Amino acid sequence: MALYPQLILDALSHVRYPGTGKDIVSSEMIEDNIRIDGNNVSFSIIFEKENDPFAKSLLKAAETSIKHYIADEGEINVAITPKFRVAAPKKDPDNPLPGVKNIIAISSGKGGVGKSTVSANLAVALAQAGYKVGLLDADIFGPSVPKMFGLEDARPILEDKNAEGRELIRPEEKYGVKMLSIGFFVNPKDAVLWRGGMASNALKQLITDANWGELDYFLLDLPPGTSDIHLTLVQTLALTGAIVVSTPQEVALADARKGIAMFTGEKVNVPIIGLVENMAWFTPAELPQNKYYLFGKEGCKRLAEEMNVPLLGQIPIVQSICECGDSGAPIALDTESMTGLAFASLAEKMVASVEEIKAKGIKTSRVITHK
Ligand code: ADP
Repeated sequence: MALYPQLILDALSHVRYPGTGKDIVSSEMIEDNIRIDGNNVSFSIIFEKENDPFAKSLLKAAETSIKHYIADEGEINVAITPKFRVAAPKKDPDNPLPGVKNIIAISSGKGGVGKSTVSANLAVALAQAGYKVGLLDADIFGPSVPKMFGLEDARPILEDKNAEGRELIRPEEKYGVKMLSIGFFVNPKDAVLWRGGMASNALKQLITDANWGELDYFLLDLPPGTSDIHLTLVQTLALTGAIVVSTPQEVALADARKGIAMFTGEKVNVPIIGLVENMAWFTPAELPQNKYYLFGKEGCKRLAEEMNVPLLGQIPIVQSICECGDSGAPIALDTESMTGLAFASLAEKMVASVEEIKAKGIKTSRVITHK
């Protein structure tokens, strides 16, 4: 008796797909292309998705079943091709964050100028404008994102294994912003003791071993100054550009200039999205029209002109910025307030500058992934 397709299907109906427990014939996993040539049988089994963990064992089981149930036909050669309805997204080995459209570093020449405050509020303002936003508190020596978002007690969990069998850290989410901070994992007091290499490795993990998913803007709140952490991040990720935060004070501007030079230098080569002048003037709550230029007037504006980079915004010193930072609800949530509007305008200018950089095709940073 010669082989014929129904005989093969009958043999295959004894094989169950472990994911559902149903047999693979009635589950319509056998493609309608069974070819028989003498004692050679070939056909395809269809899997819903690539990387199906059962694919390999199922092919073996199908072959065994045919040989077992059609034993009286002599030696049968079985060739089965797995087919996948949905191909797994192609992973670019050079891009650890394929779902992220723009990665933006936020840095400052020196500490205490409000870099974290600007990062947190910018993230919230972008989320308010409808963008998908991620925020990584990479300020390893003074992580302040947990406090600013009222997430001091958050302890991110690991998600189930992904298609590659890796467990991923699930970022916390608040006010529409996905975020991770080294402060979620270590006591901030201990973070100060970390050696550079350890800190860089921990940060890389928060970027590549976390499920950031799809993001329009991924903001990295970097430590102040220029350090090997900056270099590591720049070398791990294809940064879209960098934002430099400064106060108008001369000493801060001098450091901001160094920060800009680091990003635009040949080794790093990251475009500058713009400067943000924080603590631009003081406005007392009871006199909202008054401006007192405590740290000098328009220092960042001059620096922006000098370095030929956009000035994205000027944020005044306002008591509520500080209070909101401490209370875990960034001021940018209050879209009616003057300060909320200032951050909304900052977000808008940032988006425009990013688009301009991309339109000009300015080369973004080189990507070197060290694993
Ligand atoms: P950095 O990240 O540069 O070290 P932070 O964002 O932590 O600085 O800010 C330092 C302190 O200054 C914080 O207490 C913060 O609340 C406060 N601060 C920052 N910007 C403003 C501002 N525009 N008005 C009032 N307080 C501010």
